[in-house]
Amino acid sequence: MAENVKVAVRVRPFNAREKSRNASIIIDMSGQTTEITDPENPKAEPRKFAFDHSYWSHDGFNEREDGYLEPAGAKYDDQQKVFEDLGKGVLDNAWKGYNCSLFAYGQTGSGKSYSMVGYGVNKGIVPLACEDLFRGISAKRESAVKDEEYQVTLSMLEIYNEQVRDLLNLKTLQKGGLKVRQHPTKGFYVESQSNWPVDSYDEINNKINEGTRNRTVASTNMNATSSRAHTIVAVSFVQKSSNEAGQNMTKTSVINLVDLAGSERAESTGATGDRLKEGSAINQSLSSLGNCIKALADISQGKKKVVVPFRDSVLTKLLQNALGGNSKTVMIAALSPADINYEETLSTLRFADRAKAIKTSAIVNESPTD
Ligand code: ADP
Ligand code: MG
Repeated sequence: MAENVKVAVRVRPFNAREKSRNASIIIDMSGQTTEITDPENPKAEPRKFAFDHSYWSHDGFNEREDGYLEPAGAKYDDQQKVFEDLGKGVLDNAWKGYNCSLFAYGQTGSGKSYSMVGYGVNKGIVPLACEDLFRGISAKRESAVKDEEYQVTLSMLEIYNEQVRDLLNLKTLQKGGLKVRQHPTKGFYVESQSNWPVDSYDEINNKINEGTRNRTVASTNMNATSSRAHTIVAVSFVQKSSNEAGQNMTKTSVINLVDLAGSERAESTGATGDRLKEGSAINQSLSSLGNCIKALADISQGKKKVVVPFRDSVLTKLLQNALGGNSKTVMIAALSPADINYEETLSTLRFADRAKAIKTSAIVNESPTD
């Protein structure tokens, strides 16, 4: 059954740069509604957007002794809350055998990686979901239904300047771009991508950290440590068991976790030369993503004869299933609270608003074991 992409937005605290420039807050949230005020026009009616979830992480938190940011009142939405709402649903679907995708969109420094991966004790959705997955597998193994088997494998890719790099294979990583090919039924895939079996939370966590260290990191004025690349972590979860008729069955789910490069335009980052070229390649991938989302939203709204330009970029080729096909998809749009980022934040909200209209049709991937 066709189902809408689930969309959440999240607003972070002011960062040092915003504080030093005495930024004021232009975002307000209540229930599912997010409002943004135009700082040049503060008396005008704020623009309103409705999402599946609007997460307030701007203020109202306490920093615990270990560094964890916990709610001091009812308003603050912490990492656990976001995981309960978004991560748990992804896992439930993975156990049922659906492909799932979760992607983070927003300008550099808006909080994409914080929500996806997190920092230190403030673990994001990816590690919390991996923990929960292996906890579930252990419980199943202990309850000892003999012929049940669970396998998890991991791959991690980066798209940088329209080139694909395997972050978990040093041999091909040095050589540069891997080829994207098309399978007649399964869609686009990356040739000779490595896929690693992992059997515990520690194993998967170590692998993800290894991949993170291998990412291409270039500095821009916006955020010295921010990656200018798209990162895709794919967790494949295979469950083998037998059905009532005694037949051996295999259920497979691929969970795609995508941390997109910053959505800001190249001009606003002070980038020049090589950095500028990168910026435009990143924008090529992101603008094709925008075009695909627009086309998919038009289709969902009944428009005929729309062609979705998946082939226009590497990113959209690899996200084709996540966006228009066999996947249950969640998007989290990360927002800066500050007036100085008004244009970018408004464009993120518009992007998220369009994504809401997209419908995907996930199926349970189950077939007799070969
Ligand atoms: P991005 O990945 O979008 O470039 P980051 O996730 O790295 O941005 O966030 C930038 C900074 O803002 C980091 O220092 C991060 O700790 C902080 N931050 C982001 N989101 C939150 C949040 N929800 N609560 C507290 N701090 C946050
Ligand atoms: Mg990041």
